[in-house]
Amino acid sequence: MEIKSKLAGKVGKIVVSKGSVVSEGDKICFVESTKLTQPIKSDVAGKITKILVKQGDEITAGDVVCKVEEVSAGKADKQVTITSSFVGKVGKLNVAVGDKIEVGDVFFKVENGKLTQPFKSTEAGTIAKILVQEGDDIKTKDELVVINVNGGEETFESTLKFDLKSTVPILTVGKISAGVGDVVNEGDIILKVEAGKLSEPVKAKETCKIVKFLVKEGDAVKNGDAFAEVEKASAKKAPKKAVERGEIKCDLAILGSGPGGYQAAIYAAKQNLNVVVIEKGHLGGTCLNVGCIPTKSLIHCADVYRYSITSEDFGVTNRNTSYDLKGMVAHKDAVVSELRNGVGTLFEHGGITLVRGKGEFVDANTVKVTGEENAVVKFDKCIIATGSSIAKLPIEGIDLDCVWDSDKVLSNTEEFDSITIVGGGVIGMEFASIFSTLGKTVNVVEFLPEILAVVDDDMIDVVKSNIQVNYFFNSGVKKIEKKDGKAIVTYEHEGKLSSLESDKVLVAVGRHANIKGVNLEAAGVKLDERGRAIKIDDYLKTNVDNIYAIGDVTAKLQLAHVASNQGFCAVDNILGNKRKMDYINVPSVIFTHPEIATIGWSEKMLIKEGVKYTVKKAPFLSNGKALSMGATQGFVKLIQDAKTKKIIGGGIIGADAGNLIATLTVQISNNIDADSVAQTVFAHPTLAEVVNDAERGFGHGSIHGLDE
Ligand SMILES: Cc1cc2nc3c(=O)[nH]c(=O)nc-3n(C[C@H](O)[C@H](O)[C@H](O)COP(=O)(O)OP(=O)(O)OC[C@H]3O[C@@H](n4cnc5c(N)ncnc54)[C@H](O)[C@@H]3O)c2cc1C
Repeated sequence: MEIKSKLAGKVGKIVVSKGSVVSEGDKICFVESTKLTQPIKSDVAGKITKILVKQGDEITAGDVVCKVEEVSAGKADKQVTITSSFVGKVGKLNVAVGDKIEVGDVFFKVENGKLTQPFKSTEAGTIAKILVQEGDDIKTKDELVVINVNGGEETFESTLKFDLKSTVPILTVGKISAGVGDVVNEGDIILKVEAGKLSEPVKAKETCKIVKFLVKEGDAVKNGDAFAEVEKASAKKAPKKAVERGEIKCDLAILGSGPGGYQAAIYAAKQNLNVVVIEKGHLGGTCLNVGCIPTKSLIHCADVYRYSITSEDFGVTNRNTSYDLKGMVAHKDAVVSELRNGVGTLFEHGGITLVRGKGEFVDANTVKVTGEENAVVKFDKCIIATGSSIAKLPIEGIDLDCVWDSDKVLSNTEEFDSITIVGGGVIGMEFASIFSTLGKTVNVVEFLPEILAVVDDDMIDVVKSNIQVNYFFNSGVKKIEKKDGKAIVTYEHEGKLSSLESDKVLVAVGRHANIKGVNLEAAGVKLDERGRAIKIDDYLKTNVDNIYAIGDVTAKLQLAHVASNQGFCAVDNILGNKRKMDYINVPSVIFTHPEIATIGWSEKMLIKEGVKYTVKKAPFLSNGKALSMGATQGFVKLIQDAKTKKIIGGGIIGADAGNLIATLTVQISNNIDADSVAQTVFAHPTLAEVVNDAERGFGHGSIHGLDE
C-alpha cells in the first residue's frame, strides 16, 4: 500500500520512521506552502516499510510519500509520544516505565514560579519510555513520554467463553448479574453456572462492556461455550460511599459554586458571615468548567496558531506550524483544573464550609444534601445560585455521535475537517472563530437574518470579514442524519428544505435555568411569569424574605460577571446595606477574531426605543501599537444621548477589545463626560489611545476619528 500526498509544497518535519505502525488519520509528515503548514495523514493502517521523501523535498499532490504493509488491526503496537503543553521544571515522577495508565492520569507536576500544573496523559496504555527526569526544564512541544497505546502484543477477546473449574459435563446458567451495556471490571461477577448444589461464579478477566448475552438463565451449557459478546472499555470507578456530615448550622447557605455562588461565599465570609456552600458538581460551575474559561483557553490556542502561521510577516521563521487538538485540550484542562483547585483553596482560607452533594429545600430554613456527602444544612439566609444547563432542542438526530453540544465539543480531541454550527449567537460564533482559524470548513445555520442579534451591524461586518464562515440565515434546522460517516443537516429556508454535509455538528443554542430538582416549592420560592427562572426583585430577593437568587438561574443576563456582581449585591442586601443591581451598565465581550466588546446602549437598542443619539468613532488603523501588532481592523465607537449629552453606550471591535472596554465601563457607570476622558492622559503607544481619540470626537474633534 502507498500513502500519497494530497498537498503540494516543501516536505517539513517527518514524524514517522521505517517500522512505525500507523493508524488511519496518523500524521506522516508536514508540507509547507506559502504560509500554511499542513500534515499529510495516513489513509490506511499498517507498518511503514519505506519512506520515499526527505525533509526539504518539493512534492506535488499525488506523489507517493511512503509505503505501508498491512498489519492485523487490534494487534497494532502503536506508540504515541506525548508532548508538553507547559513551560517549567519537571516535578516528582508519579509513573514508571511499564505502568498502565488511563487518560487523565498525572505523569508529574510542572512547576513554573508560583504555578504548579499537572501534566496528564491524553492516552490510555502502557508507559514505554519517559524522556525526562525530575528537575529537567521543559518547554511546550518537548517530547516527554512515549505510550504503547495498544499495550504491545496484548489482545482483546470480544467473545467470552466459559473457562470453569467444574468438571461436570453439562451445567445450567444461573443468575446473570450484569446487564447489556454494563461495564464490568476484572474480577466482577458476570453470571453464575450451576450443577446441582454447586454454583460457580463466572468473572470478567479484564475490563469490558457487555454488548450481547449469548445465553439466558436456565440454559444448559458446557465448558468452552461462548456466553457473551463484549467490547473494550475503560475501567469503571467503584461508587464511593457517601460521607455523613449530619446537621450543619450557618448564617448563609449558598446553593451552587459557579461564579455567582463562589464569589458571593468569599465576599460574605470576609464580612464575617458563617457560610456553607453546597455543590453537586465541580467547583466553579459552568463558567470555569464548561463555559468562559475552557472556551477562552481554546480561543487562545487558536490565536497562538494564527500568530504562528503569520509569523513570517513579523520576520519570525516558523515553517513547521501545525496544531494538535489533544495538546489544546490538555492546555484547557490544565487551566480549568488549576482554577478549580484555586476555588477550593480560597474556600479553605476563607473558612467556608463546602458540602459536596445535591441540595434541595426541605423548608425555608433547611436544605437537605445528598450525594458524595449527606448533610442537613440549617440556615438564616440562603442564596440560590444553581446556574443553567444545556437544553436539548427537539431536533431529530440530536443524539447522534457526530452531534456535539457546547460541553462535548470542549473535550473533543478527534480531528475533523468540517463542522456545521447550529446557532450564530455568542457561543456559536466563538466556536466558529476557533474552527475557522484552525482551517476547518465552518457552516453557521441561524434562524434570524443575522449573527449576534444584539450587536450593531458595523461591528458584525468586521467580524464577518475576518473569519471564513459560510452563513445560512433565516434557516431552521429540521433534522440531522449520519450517512457514510458524514453528518447531514437538513434546514428549512423560506419554506424550502436544503441540506448541508459536514463531519461534525455543534448545536450552540438553548440553555435553561436549573430550577428543577431543588424543590423550590418546599421553601415557597416562586418562578417568574414565564415559569422559566426564579423571580427576584431589584435587590436579588425572591418572594421568600430570607432567600435570594443570583446568576443564570434568574435569567437576567446570563454572564459570569453579572452572576458574581449579583452575588456581591445580594450579600450587601443580606447585611442590610440596601443596593440595587444595575443591568444596563454591564459590559459584554464576544471573543471572536477580532473581539467585540460592548457596554450600555447599542444603536440597535436606541433605534428600537426611538431615542435620538450621536455616534463618534475612531479607527485602530491609524494607531501605532495596532499597526505594529498587525491588528488594524476595527474601531472604538461612543454613543451619546442627543438630548442629555450623556455617553450612554459604547462598542469596541478590534484587538484586545475585551480589556479596552473597561475604560468605557468606568466612564458610563460613573456618568463621566467625554471631555473628561479626552483630557485624561493615556500612555503612548497603546491601543487605549483609540478610546481617548474617540472621546475627543465629542469635543474638539477626534485626531484620527471617523466623525459621522
Ligand atoms: C460555552 C460557554 C461560554 C461562555 N462564555 C462566557 C464568557 O466568555 N463570559 C461570560 O461572562 N459568560 C460566559 N458564559 C456564561 C457563564 O458561564 C454563566 O453566565 C455563568 O457560569 C453563570 O454563573 P452561575 O453562578 O449563575 O451558575 P453556574 O456557573 O452554572 O454554576 C451553578 C452551579 O450550581 C451547581 N448546582 C446546580 N444545582 C445544584 C443543586 N441542586 N445542588 C448543588 N449544586 C447545584 C452546579 O453544579 C454548578 O456548579 C459562557 C457559557 C457557556 C456555556
